[in-house]
Amino acid sequence: MDYNKLAQLLYPDINKTPADLEKMFPPRDLPANAKVTRIGPSPTGFVHLGNLYNAVIGERLAHQSNGVFFLRIEDTDAKREVPGAVETILSAMHYFGVHFDEGATAGGEFGAYGPYRQRQRKEIYQTIAKFLVQSGCAYPCFCTEDEVAALRERQIAQKLNFGYYGEFATCRNLSYEQIEANLAAGKPFVLRFRSKGCAENSVKVYDGIRGELEIQENYQDFVLLKSDGIPTYHFAHVVDDHFMRTTHVVRGEEWLATLPMHVEVFDTLGWTRPVYCHTAQLMKMDGEVKRKLSKRKDPELALAYYHSDGYLPQAVWEYLLTVLNSNYEQWRLDNPQLPLTEFPFRTEKMSTSGALFDLLKLDDISKEVLCAMPAAQVYDGLLAWCEEFDREFAALLKRDRDYAEKILALGKQGARPRKDLITWRQAVQFLSFYYDERFKQEDAWPEHVDASLRKEIFSRYLVGLDFTDDNAQWFAKVRAICEALNFALQPKKYKKNPELYRGSIVDVSNAIRVAITGRLNSPDLWEISQALGEERTRQRIRNAMED
Ligand code: GLU
Repeated sequence: MDYNKLAQLLYPDINKTPADLEKMFPPRDLPANAKVTRIGPSPTGFVHLGNLYNAVIGERLAHQSNGVFFLRIEDTDAKREVPGAVETILSAMHYFGVHFDEGATAGGEFGAYGPYRQRQRKEIYQTIAKFLVQSGCAYPCFCTEDEVAALRERQIAQKLNFGYYGEFATCRNLSYEQIEANLAAGKPFVLRFRSKGCAENSVKVYDGIRGELEIQENYQDFVLLKSDGIPTYHFAHVVDDHFMRTTHVVRGEEWLATLPMHVEVFDTLGWTRPVYCHTAQLMKMDGEVKRKLSKRKDPELALAYYHSDGYLPQAVWEYLLTVLNSNYEQWRLDNPQLPLTEFPFRTEKMSTSGALFDLLKLDDISKEVLCAMPAAQVYDGLLAWCEEFDREFAALLKRDRDYAEKILALGKQGARPRKDLITWRQAVQFLSFYYDERFKQEDAWPEHVDASLRKEIFSRYLVGLDFTDDNAQWFAKVRAICEALNFALQPKKYKKNPELYRGSIVDVSNAIRVAITGRLNSPDLWEISQALGEERTRQRIRNAMED
């Protein structure tokens, strides 16, 4: 068969050669050992936690080696595409502080190795496809879906490996004339790879996370281009990562099964394989059982969840790094002040047996991050989130920035600073009592303090209240109220002889706390009062007397 003639018959409009593409997309001019990485999300509207997980790895590998990290949109499956999905990906990545050096943008793209949207790369794929046909390494297949399904049935019945290969690959041996006749009859075709592999052989592949792998060789004549000329993932991945000069392909372990195909195409074309880094599945504990995170059951699998709940990008990064590199946590303890970009990230330190996700641990890290953050910075982050998700609260924050910063700074000093804030959403809830517009009594009055006793306590409290007092003087007055109204100064004493007292100091201070904050738990009451100011504090106590 004259493969040149066949290639011309199949792709008459393709005039470029692989050599032309090599010139258009030359090896990158980067320092030795610089890594080039990417993420390749599909624009389905759902941005997966795994996208960020892989982005963090790719970003670190590239940027800590002065390399390049880029975004490629893998939009070959038009049926699954949702309008606006690229913007969704971009805004999710932007929120989490993932910066690309090149790639797709909302309106277009930037960088010299594009196009960065696969549907716009048709000519590039077809150029390589034509070359593969010319080399006898690819051929058109006219089998219908029904025929392929019937083949599968036969293979199942005979307990054979499924697929299009060897003697089952009927279109492998079509003559030029048969192909020409099929085309003339308007029959659609897919382009298949002509594999030289054998199911009994194995091939060695180096994986940056898993080390040297020995995997079964590919022997399938899999599809390179679908009948509409759009490539499959397997072909697009190889062509794109070659011409975009990707050095490290970071992707989920679900691609391990088809890795032999990718390797065979790389080798057939004489291209250097990238270092594959297959990341472990994201898992969670469900009671006692460790299982894969599921789109249906686990809202935390969607990146949108962290954004709308207001998880801090810094906290999510800190958390992901603790999951990714087992030595990160110790490094962070040893270097509390250093930016995380100083951490020497290594794929060899990654787990291969499933990355365990634990939202409680993320919450703990978030608390630490917020606790260590200066109040002014907390204010800016909170305000930005509120502008998007709670405009009413944003307006309250903006009304008096000094006040907001004061309440955000509260409890930050001292040997054991408070860790009240976790996420922006939770912070809005937590801070609500500082604003009359959001204040409400959330907890019930203490058990031993009925309405008339409350009146008694509060009127005495108002009489004694003096904003020039310090914390100790203030507390002495609370104690004096307890003594006057027969509440034990030590809860223990009350517990021992409940018949001697009306209650303990806990009841009295909790009554005051509920009056001022609406809650039984809060930061230091005197500090809160100082922040609220005398007028607002008195008003809250007066309001409580009317309850
Ligand atoms: N579009 C592929 C996915 O979403 C990308 C895999 C890759 O990074 O190569 O799984």
